[in-house]
Amino acid sequence: MTSSDSSTAISFADMGLPQPLLQSLSELGYETPSPIQASSIPILMEGRDLLGQAQTGTGKTAAFALPMLARLDPNKHYPQLLVLAPTRELAIQVAEAFQRYSRNMGFSVLPIYGGQSYTNQLKQLKRGAQIIVGTPGRVMDHINRGTLVLTQLEALVLDEADEMLRMGFIDDVEWIVKHTPEKRQIALFSATMPKEIKKVANTYLNNPAHVQIETKTSTASTIRQRYSLVNNNQKLHAFSRILEIESFDAVLVFVRTKLATVDVAEKLSARGYRTQALNGDIPQNQREQAIDKMKRGKLDILVATDVVARGLDVERVSHVLNYDIPYDTESYVHRIGRTGRAGRTGDAILFISHREKRLLFAIEKATKQRIENMEIPSISQLNESRLERFKQSIIEAMNDESIESYIPIVESIMEETEASPDLIMAALAKVAQGNEP
Ligand code: AMP
Repeated sequence: MTSSDSSTAISFADMGLPQPLLQSLSELGYETPSPIQASSIPILMEGRDLLGQAQTGTGKTAAFALPMLARLDPNKHYPQLLVLAPTRELAIQVAEAFQRYSRNMGFSVLPIYGGQSYTNQLKQLKRGAQIIVGTPGRVMDHINRGTLVLTQLEALVLDEADEMLRMGFIDDVEWIVKHTPEKRQIALFSATMPKEIKKVANTYLNNPAHVQIETKTSTASTIRQRYSLVNNNQKLHAFSRILEIESFDAVLVFVRTKLATVDVAEKLSARGYRTQALNGDIPQNQREQAIDKMKRGKLDILVATDVVARGLDVERVSHVLNYDIPYDTESYVHRIGRTGRAGRTGDAILFISHREKRLLFAIEKATKQRIENMEIPSISQLNESRLERFKQSIIEAMNDESIESYIPIVESIMEETEASPDLIMAALAKVAQGNEP
């Protein structure tokens, strides 16, 4: 797959996606297609079969959801698209993605998985659900009971096919594929391509286009790379702690959407960091001003999307934080290359969730460098570092020339209260620290 240079990159609008979809993408703050999207969407829009090698975190869900939604008809009330996913969690996640993308179109999306009662599933199927996202076992059940009828199915997606194989579902998957009409479109996504998956692809896909993420890349050895396992809702908390512990000069934070740039920047500003958002909606001259402020030390944190941070060159950037994981190894390398400029050393930190671990391995493999695990600083580490900073600030103050003028004040306190110097110093430290922990 070819790499994405932002200046020549294809946009969602260029790919012929219908207006209601473009509208949702803009509401969600998506700026540009990820590499897997840029290459898959046009193929699937044409109605071709596709064999895609991509892991979670690359944007693969939208890579099939968007073109499929573009081709389906909201006025036909029967199952038009079936997505098979290995786990209940993934089925729910994919169904939610379909709901988000199609919210201006009016499709009915139904997740079906084991462990959930049949009643609601049956009701929704009777009402004419159009997009079914399910785990293989439960989908088979419904086909056998005659409650899921696939005779008019337009398309089938096999998501995380290697996981379905690993979990022992491959026969069920084949059975389901055989129960779909011969002319349906198939997209098969898998992070790896074991021979059993290749066999399924060879047997059921019709002259498929192959899409894969290129992984040849290299990183500068002057950049120390670490990762932390963090859930989405814990990222801000984790980042705040890291900022307290790490000695940083300037930080460049990468997120996926325009909305996230603003959201994260606002929250960091509220925590007292001089932060600004950088995204494609911000006029060019304002973006340049922000970068200039960063260079002059008037701004410490920029929260950016990939597109606007491409080529950004600010020597002060001591840390790059991948707040949201990049889509592929190439963009990872671009991102972390924003630190360690001009012969300096740099630090790169990557937040990943459990589900995204594969991408971490892919990055290590492609860059031939290990990424160390980094624990989120504990309360006691935070306290230690706060204490250290506090001591440091007092030592600095002792060396300040203006300290002389304070001595008579301390002397008069001593005279009036007859308190010991220790006690007075402790009281002053308390006043200086204010309400800070
Ligand atoms: P996936 O690899 O499909 O699990 O997607 C991972 C995350 O990336 C999801 O949270 C998506 O909402 C987000 N995402 C996918 N495509 C884009 C895009 N083009 N721009 C911004 N965020 C995206």
